[in-house]
Amino acid sequence: MSEFDPVAVCQRLEMVKNELEKANCRFGQNAQLMAVSKTFPAQAVLAAAQVGQRVFGENYAQEGCDKVDWFRANHPELCLVWHFIGPLQSNKTRPVAERFDWVDSIDRLKIAQRLNDQRPKDLAPLNVLIEVNIDSESSKSGVPVSEVRNLADEIVKLTNLKLRGLMCIPAPALTRNEQAKPLKAMRALFDELKDIYGFDTLSMGMSADMTVAVECGSTLVRVGSAIFGHRDYSKKSA
Ligand SMILES: *Cc1c(COP(=O)(O)O)cnc(C)c1O
Repeated sequence: MSEFDPVAVCQRLEMVKNELEKANCRFGQNAQLMAVSKTFPAQAVLAAAQVGQRVFGENYAQEGCDKVDWFRANHPELCLVWHFIGPLQSNKTRPVAERFDWVDSIDRLKIAQRLNDQRPKDLAPLNVLIEVNIDSESSKSGVPVSEVRNLADEIVKLTNLKLRGLMCIPAPALTRNEQAKPLKAMRALFDELKDIYGFDTLSMGMSADMTVAVECGSTLVRVGSAIFGHRDYSKKSA
């Protein structure tokens, strides 16, 4: 697990929220903040939740499920919303389907079908996003743009899932212009599909490109290190 300082987490969260609010105001957006807590212990999430953060993202099935369980057992009053945002293998879909509110990294039908079959009937439908490989040269995760509609047409038939939109993880870029290129392409794809499928969520923007993502139309930014600090993967538990 990565180390953290609860006071610093709260201070950085305030700064990120201010920055997001400024960007929302400046660009006429209403993007929400997801705090990405991978590699950080439940206590770091608790520090952020106690100052009002509600939406969290996790990347690893075991680690994420453990945190969701810990909060449901110890802090049900916090009503946290959990997004699974990492690559998901088919043998890990069940615990995720049983716990998370969203899976934002759907990149093939098989995973969507398993999540649909494994979603407990007493829970609300699982919200899902299709992860798009928007800059195909540099990144390996996500579906190619040309296959997004085919996948969406199949996902909307799955009654225990609710397809809410798209997400992407573009390759890191150094300049604002370079950062904006894939984000603008995502926005164009989102605008093309949103009325067809009733999309309301375009998840893009991380610590390094949050404001440019808001400028390009993001509705949900995913911010990790700018809130929790440096991640230490060497101590990651399996
Ligand atoms: C880790 C991660 C983030 C957060 O990245 P930071 O650069 O730390 O803000 C956002 N999205 C995904 C999919 C991630 O895996």
